[in-house]
Amino acid sequence: MEKLKRMIEEKGTVLSPTVLKVDSFLNHCIDTEMMEEIGEVFAAWFQEAGITKVITIESGGIAPAYAAAHKLGVPILFAKKTEPCTMTDPLTATVHSYTKNTDYQLCAEHSMLQPEDVVLFIDDFLANGQAFLGVQALIEQAGARLGGVGICVEKSWQDGRALIIDSKAPLCVLASIKEMQPPHTIIWNTPNETC
Ligand code: 5GP
Repeated sequence: MEKLKRMIEEKGTVLSPTVLKVDSFLNHCIDTEMMEEIGEVFAAWFQEAGITKVITIESGGIAPAYAAAHKLGVPILFAKKTEPCTMTDPLTATVHSYTKNTDYQLCAEHSMLQPEDVVLFIDDFLANGQAFLGVQALIEQAGARLGGVGICVEKSWQDGRALIIDSKAPLCVLASIKEMQPPHTIIWNTPNETC
């Protein structure tokens, strides 16, 4: 998605060869116009996939997941990183956080995912795929089916892409980084390597 790539080049900061900061428009402060377009691209890509629910992890994935779910006309479920006392029957999985370098217990209310659900996982970033594995575990526990994965920004040399390809779920990546260097050098993969 050329517009997202240009915004990353203009407003993003490469903090290290493995961490990109995009909090002024993607995952802290949200550019709503950009987010609408992200939702449109994901929805067009997964229109025929029979998606009944979009799932993400709080908090960075909520905006693109909401945008895609709204365009697809389905609900969004965001899995939580801490279990609230109101959750009565949680699905859970342990996930290693890329940005915090600690483990957390991912959870979602069991009744929110049904065996007949075809679930689209959307996230802001794909790095080593640990968030994906956690969400996949929740979907499996519910007996639902993973219907696709939509990622705003991937770093293609990290392990996540291979894990998703292994799962056989269709993958749509909007901006695929081949290599990056602080503070502003980003080399993109060619569009035919993504969606
Ligand atoms: P993974 O689980 O695939 O290793 O990492 C994905 C999660 O880590 C995303 O949900 C995102 O929150 C965070 N993440 C991974 N790489 C980056 C990055 O370069 N920048 C930011 N801001 N977050 C990242």
